[in-house]
Amino acid sequence: MDSTIDALKQDVFERNLNEPEYHQAVAEVLDSLGPVLEQHPEYLDHDIIHRLCEPERQIIFRVPWRDDRGQVHINRGYRVEFNSALGPYKGGLRFHPSVNLGIVKFLGFEQIFKNALTGLPIGGGKGGANFDPRGRSDTEIMAFCQSFMTELYRHIGEYTDVPAGDIGVGTREIGYLFGQYKRITNRFEAGAFTGKGLNWGGSLVRTEATGYGTIYFAREQLGTMGETLDGKRVSISGAGNVALYAIEKAQALGARVVTASDSSGCVYDPDGIDLELLKQVKEIERGRIRDYADRRGPRVEFHARITDVWDVPTDIALPCATQNELDGQSARALINNGVKVVAEGANMPCTPEAAQLLRAAKHVLFGPAKAVNSGGVATSALEMQQNASRDSWDFAYTESRLEEIMVSVHERVRATASRYGDPNDYVLGANIAAFTKVVDAMIAQGLV
Ligand code: GLU
Repeated sequence: MDSTIDALKQDVFERNLNEPEYHQAVAEVLDSLGPVLEQHPEYLDHDIIHRLCEPERQIIFRVPWRDDRGQVHINRGYRVEFNSALGPYKGGLRFHPSVNLGIVKFLGFEQIFKNALTGLPIGGGKGGANFDPRGRSDTEIMAFCQSFMTELYRHIGEYTDVPAGDIGVGTREIGYLFGQYKRITNRFEAGAFTGKGLNWGGSLVRTEATGYGTIYFAREQLGTMGETLDGKRVSISGAGNVALYAIEKAQALGARVVTASDSSGCVYDPDGIDLELLKQVKEIERGRIRDYADRRGPRVEFHARITDVWDVPTDIALPCATQNELDGQSARALINNGVKVVAEGANMPCTPEAAQLLRAAKHVLFGPAKAVNSGGVATSALEMQQNASRDSWDFAYTESRLEEIMVSVHERVRATASRYGDPNDYVLGANIAAFTKVVDAMIAQGLV
């Protein structure tokens, strides 16, 4: 079976040249499929792997806009509508200078499986642009969003493709995108976007959902060892939407979070992160993490080397920044420092070497992103449910739905892992549970 899988991977790599992140995401899934393909060789008859790895539709477009000084800029926009076997394409938009087709395809591919694990009826897609929002004024952000939507609007819709946020896209950007969509289409189609503002169709808990869901998942992992978050030391990377709300929930459950980071460095705060100050610096002032260190006091250390975030003794490590931020060396440092749980809050934050080391380490439970961070998109699906029924739920009820979903994702992953191998192998469980759900639906829907 290994040689069949290697040949399939090779085919996918050759068809998608110069897309290393996409290759990495595909390899991570295909390398888990041996046990399921041995038990169900019929999957190979349908040539399902080739179909799964070929997006249903890939849209690339020009995004022209003018900055505040009147200068014209041309960016490249993307939407990869990857798989609609389970529901309309669903996934975020990323605005970051690193965005290219390979990055969008890796994110879209991951999204198919993540969305399947939630148990909710959503397909997978992803989009974005190589636009750098850092340092841009509000009018420039609006100009960019309006130009981006002037092309994207024709491809999306409540029953077709439902974008949301990701890195560089929050409620402000969703607002400008939604406004332009409404203007062009003359439809208040709330269900065409998620992550909307609370007074124009958004859902309570959506802002917090990815971070809260990550902590619920880590709590469940700890529970299998008879432990809780109370009193645990937690290291977190990032200081964006995922990290901030992971810190909030971890602290609420009694943990001490000692690190945070951004692209300029990281902070080690032995007394526990002051979340109000961090939110003030990162969300309100849109500043750098060094400002947090400067204002917090002498016991806080600032390190310009971001990977130092993994070099402190910790019980739980949550990479919540971006892809490939945690490498083999950092994984070894975490294992040597006695980490018990590593749960990926960001998308594919561990390099293949790091993931392999953490997965193999005794006494470490490694949770892959597609399971751990699925609370964000799951709450997007709850936002779609509220929009479809023209209803809005209260915070406590919505959060209880999120918590139930995370507990069930964790159970589904462990049950599948124990059926095909080891219950503690979350990578195996997540990949096989999601794969079987998606490909069974694809096969039932015929050769499309
Ligand atoms: N960008 C988020 C993710 O990686 C959320 C997507 C959504 O809510 O559609 O899952």
